[in-house]
Amino acid sequence: AKANGKNQVQIFTEALNAEAHYKLFVENNLRRALTQNELEVYYQPKLCLKTGQLTGLEALLRWLHPEKGMINPDQFISVAEETGLIIPIGKWVARQACRVSQELAALGMGEVQVAINLSPKQFTDPDLVGSIAAILDEEQLPPHLLELELTESLLLEGTDDTRQQVARLKALGLTLAMDDFGTGYSSLSYLKKFPIDVIKIDRSFIKDIPENQDDMEITSAVIAMAHNLKLKVVAEGIETAAQLAFLRRHKCDVGQGYLFDRPISSRELIERLRRYPCR
Ligand code: C2E
Ligand code: CA
Ligand code: CA
Ligand code: CA
Repeated sequence: AKANGKNQVQIFTEALNAEAHYKLFVENNLRRALTQNELEVYYQPKLCLKTGQLTGLEALLRWLHPEKGMINPDQFISVAEETGLIIPIGKWVARQACRVSQELAALGMGEVQVAINLSPKQFTDPDLVGSIAAILDEEQLPPHLLELELTESLLLEGTDDTRQQVARLKALGLTLAMDDFGTGYSSLSYLKKFPIDVIKIDRSFIKDIPENQDDMEITSAVIAMAHNLKLKVVAEGIETAAQLAFLRRHKCDVGQGYLFDRPISSRELIERLRRYPCR
């Protein structure tokens, strides 16, 4: 940096400018993306670790930008949250997810639960619960087939109003999961207080199995504790056979990860399930 004569402040300012510039790009383009069909929902299979059968899907947003190509959610979700665009986008994702579950049922693949991610910002929408109820109704999907992946911070730091919305979603019959379990300040005792059905162990605990003894201890303890609380456990980010073997040995219920499948488009998903109806 010294070589081209810049000091720390200049470098810092340039980095900030680049970031501001990128944000502006996303902001200006994301609105159009939603109306111009540039957004697409990909689906990643979740498998029962006992039988290997497909039990559900996680809906993951992708942005297919005409010039920039595929943009992953980490690069635009935060801007969508700041601008509030996540609210209409989230409703669109929910509808797509319901349709895919219906489509798989119509193809004779049975009941496949589809999970969508909800960020805390979506709970600032007073119409969140009403719109989800309307989507389920219009798409005629049994509510238990829609799962909501919620963050620890939403449940722990949410306002009374947020907690009420979560309770109403639960009362509609939706399945509620706590996503990225272990990355926040989740004290295990908190789990009892929330109306959740599922916890998803974050990939950061899975990725160093079987090398990291601590991660293995934590993971097996979390599974045992969740089962005592009658919660189902999903492990995310399974990439190796050794990780799978460990999780099966400790009776983890469901797994998701590149070892099985990457997130794929609904078209690819249907093709894939046609070829291997029950793996
Ligand atoms: P997440 O909810 O924790 O989703 C899991 C992420 O891990 C996904 O990244 C998925 O593609 C990735 N993944 C799955 N299996 C593996 C694996 O075996 N190895 C590795 N290295 N990664 C794996 P993705 O699709 O880039 O999504 C990132 C985040 O963006 C999600 O994290 C979620 O927080 C957010 N997101 C995605 N779609 C939506 C959406 O529709 N609404 C909202 N509010 N957030 C979304
Ligand atoms: Ca998730
Ligand atoms: Ca997750
Ligand atoms: Ca995660």
